[in-house]
Amino acid sequence: MSTVIEREAQFCAHNYHPLPVVLVKGEGALVWDENGREYIDMMSAYSAVSHGHRHPKIIKALETQLSRLAIVSRSYYTDVLADFLQYACELFGYDKGLPMNTGAEGVETALKLARKWGYTVKKVPADKAEIIACHNNFHGRTITIVGMSSEKQYRDGFGPFPAGFSMIPFGDSAALEKAITPNTVAFIVEPIQGEAGIILPPAGYLKKCAELCKRHNVLLIADEIQTGLGRTGKRLACDHEGVKPDLLVLGKALGGGVLPVSLVLADDAIMSVLKPGDHGSTFGGYALAAAVGMAALKILEEEKLAERATVLGERLMKGLKSISHPALRDIRGKGLMIGIEINPDIIHGRALAEKFLQHGILTKETHRVVIRLAPPLVISEALIDRAIETIKKIFAEVQ
Ligand SMILES: *Cc1c(COP(=O)(O)O)cnc(C)c1O
Repeated sequence: MSTVIEREAQFCAHNYHPLPVVLVKGEGALVWDENGREYIDMMSAYSAVSHGHRHPKIIKALETQLSRLAIVSRSYYTDVLADFLQYACELFGYDKGLPMNTGAEGVETALKLARKWGYTVKKVPADKAEIIACHNNFHGRTITIVGMSSEKQYRDGFGPFPAGFSMIPFGDSAALEKAITPNTVAFIVEPIQGEAGIILPPAGYLKKCAELCKRHNVLLIADEIQTGLGRTGKRLACDHEGVKPDLLVLGKALGGGVLPVSLVLADDAIMSVLKPGDHGSTFGGYALAAAVGMAALKILEEEKLAERATVLGERLMKGLKSISHPALRDIRGKGLMIGIEINPDIIHGRALAEKFLQHGILTKETHRVVIRLAPPLVISEALIDRAIETIKKIFAEVQ
């Protein structure tokens, strides 16, 4: 066993259970381990690497900014933040953006905005604001966010949790209407549930939810941290149904595969509830992040990454669907966000992910029965085809 693996196990908290490979280099959709072995990255750091590893334009933006100024905090202006936010606002059609770092911080920001909007605009009585979330959601790991999770392991041992959250089944708009009360300020939803195992709601669900939210004066918060920025074949997964959420949360790929950059977008009617000092983050919107976020969004457009996701996603899906094997229960997804559901009586997700690794494909199981396939959107057709052929071989070995 690699001494690196042993030392990480000794000195790093065991809050993850990594696959046994030590990666030392990445380029585009490929990564290499310490022995020089090549792997196709079908994991993309949970979609943070949609632009591929070390995209030249991202590295250039990073280096250019790094050679001038990295961080001064939001106590001062820099000459890059306005450019980044203007570009993001115009691209997605919002008045303002609030920059943060991790996805969880972006979600917390959206929740705080919704509550403050509820008290100051909707006039919900003090401390009575309610937010509705979905079963099997994944919005991050802070105490508030795991408090609105239905996943036992995410919650166990971390209570007590903040009040004011309720939960409804995902994909059920009738349940949303039933759950809304006069004190409901927001409904938070992932357009496709990623960590839950690539779960797609019925067609028209988001549109229906958006209508219900509008009718009842409830804010729709779309968590597009994983589904956004081209991953599902549109700029946003909400675009598939022509829905414009009141609060849009972006993260992961917004950092171009090099930095944590998240962003909450909203119109002035919501964003203006925040006054100086109400909310912040030392690194939120720092110059390096602004330069990289701007480059990440520009590349998304210039390289038509959403269109690539559609075409390559269909190619990958077609290849996967040509495999017939008793362990395969379902293959589903949109664009390059694909889940393979397996029968755990035949092979466990973890064991299958290890087989993928042995055959040169990086992936990870989620909830024991789903293997995710979400390569960088810049992946070539040839690598998609190589992945399909490899996956065929892998299943041929599964008894
Ligand atoms: C990854 C993810 C988050 C959390 O992002 P972090 O950067 O890990 O805090 C939130 N929501 C969704 C949908 C995610 O996939």
